[in-house]
Amino acid sequence: MAETKKLILASSNKGKIREIKELLPDYEILSMAEAGFEGDIEENGTTFEENAMIKARTVWEKTGHTVLADDSGLEVDAINKEPGIYSARYLGEDTPFDKKMDDVLRRLEGVPQDKRTARFVCAMAAVLPDGTEKTVRGTMEGFIGYEKRGTNGFGYDPIFVVPEYDLTVAELDSDQKNKISHRGMALKKMKEALS
Ligand code: IMP
Repeated sequence: MAETKKLILASSNKGKIREIKELLPDYEILSMAEAGFEGDIEENGTTFEENAMIKARTVWEKTGHTVLADDSGLEVDAINKEPGIYSARYLGEDTPFDKKMDDVLRRLEGVPQDKRTARFVCAMAAVLPDGTEKTVRGTMEGFIGYEKRGTNGFGYDPIFVVPEYDLTVAELDSDQKNKISHRGMALKKMKEALS
């Protein structure tokens, strides 16, 4: 029987961990805590890729196992690609997403549909036991709606409209989201890079 491949996920975001587990069923996925890693990692990079690699390398240095980390966020073109790498920290880490989304919607008041383009970006970084590094990026293109809709998913999902479905990501079920999401795309590329 093939041995289950162990992979440590350098994230504590429950929504992301759930999605990555769904997308990598062949791996035994351990959280940082399960792998014995404690402490915060300062994400002081200037790109999604840099931040993902900072997280992966920090956990690899402490554990020596294969580590996978992602850094993701929402880029809204009409507001200079904000909140971007600061998506989780936008208006402060502890501000509820309801408020963060209201603020994005407010900043887009009066902006017509064709200028409301946006994308979710996910950079994924892996460090293998021998120290080899790999980085990939996945994106999902769409636009910011005019109101929050739907209750699935997490983060900015209720204001991000997927044109193919004319639904927000929060109105899709998790299978639909995983097929088209930035994280799904990045993981597909990473699976190939790891094999
Ligand atoms: P990270 O943990 O530094 O990668 O921050 C990612 C942040 O980007 C999350 O806290 C969300 O605010 C946002 N984000 C990333 N992916 C998604 C998604 O799939 N749906 C909604 N928001 C997302």
